[in-house]
Amino acid sequence: MGPQKMKKELFGTNGVRGVAGKEMTPKLVLSIGMALGSMRKGTIAVGMDTRTSGPALASAMKAGLMAAGCNVVDCGILPTPALQYIVRGRFAAGAMITASHNPPEYNGVKVIEADGTEMGDEETIALEQRIFTSDFSFAGWSDAGREDPGGSLVSGYVDAVVGAFPKGIGKGMTVVVDPGCGAAVNTTPRILSRLGCRVFTLNAQADGTFPGRLPEPSIEGLGPLAEMVRSTGAAFGIAHDGDADRAVFVDENGQYIEENVELALIADSICSRERGVVVTPVSSSRLVEEIARRHGSDTVYTPVGSIYVARTMIGLVENGTPVALGGEGNGGVIYPKFQFCRDGGMTAAMMVSLLSGQPRTLSGLVENLPAFHMIKDKIRIGDPSRIITTLVERYASESCDLTDGIRINRPDSWALVRPSGTEPLVRVMVESRDPDTARDLYQEIMAYISG
Ligand code: MG
Repeated sequence: MGPQKMKKELFGTNGVRGVAGKEMTPKLVLSIGMALGSMRKGTIAVGMDTRTSGPALASAMKAGLMAAGCNVVDCGILPTPALQYIVRGRFAAGAMITASHNPPEYNGVKVIEADGTEMGDEETIALEQRIFTSDFSFAGWSDAGREDPGGSLVSGYVDAVVGAFPKGIGKGMTVVVDPGCGAAVNTTPRILSRLGCRVFTLNAQADGTFPGRLPEPSIEGLGPLAEMVRSTGAAFGIAHDGDADRAVFVDENGQYIEENVELALIADSICSRERGVVVTPVSSSRLVEEIARRHGSDTVYTPVGSIYVARTMIGLVENGTPVALGGEGNGGVIYPKFQFCRDGGMTAAMMVSLLSGQPRTLSGLVENLPAFHMIKDKIRIGDPSRIITTLVERYASESCDLTDGIRINRPDSWALVRPSGTEPLVRVMVESRDPDTARDLYQEIMAYISG
């Protein structure tokens, strides 16, 4: 019933990416702009993260759009979810110049639809076709597009996130924000201050050389955040990826919170007061499903990729099934009451709400959850689809989910084997509450893969 993955050439799961000046050139972005402007008529909002290559690529995008007859509104530096919020119901589309969590030398484009979601597979393939065949419709002199400034629109996003919570919900709470010199430098600290929190920041200047840490908010780069959380007595620390659609946390002791645990904690809080299913990819920990079930919420699984989660959520809502929460086990949380996309700023605010009036600390809440053991691996292999076929046959008598690769579900454990979209390899994930059970299942699967 949900969306199926379709093969794209240029675009990956979340847009086009490449090294700036090599694969990601102004020429390519210009052609994406001309193609998008030929497909979507009207006014298109353009934004970017803080990368050094951003201004040149954003200029190319705007040139392509205007040449095709679209007006553009330049929103400047802002998070991807802020651009998504701004586009929804107001513009014909959006184009975000970002490489998300990739290293500084990368850049890319995420295309946003009028409903605020990232462009789906079918439309993206149509866009690619236009690029490959240079199928552009150019405007004549009398209807060439114009550019208007849109730098102030981001305030509307900050206001809306803040407005989704009771006034002063963060009063008395100290928090530390590490936007990693990325797109959220002007949003998340403001959001948390306006919720009433006392906010400390680090890496909070826009800087595309990313001097403090890499755009991927991994444990290795979050030592200074943990340190500042401890020294300020903060309730938690939060860090974003480069375009701030994701948010990860450290607890009051500076301890990193695994992202599946983060999603489960937020699901626990939301599902305790809102009715509806939880939507998550087949790669997510069973912890999420278990926590949702405690509140009577079912879990709906999707292919791996935030856009599949978002589109499945939209489909469910359209068919009358309430959805409480969506998200991935990588810090990408989707709160459907606000918008159908991952939103790091909203996730930060949800953490404040979760802890507000809560007698337990964040580490206490984590300790209270059941522990799961996950094994992750990737195996280079010539023909990933053949392995999947083999496993489907071998496990035909068991409960299997073929949403993305194969997920074998057992009462005490599960395993996921899925082909990479871009490389000749399969990704393997195995999980159980019991480490030995996880290891046994992992070895069983590996025997089939290498055998
Ligand atoms: Mg991102």
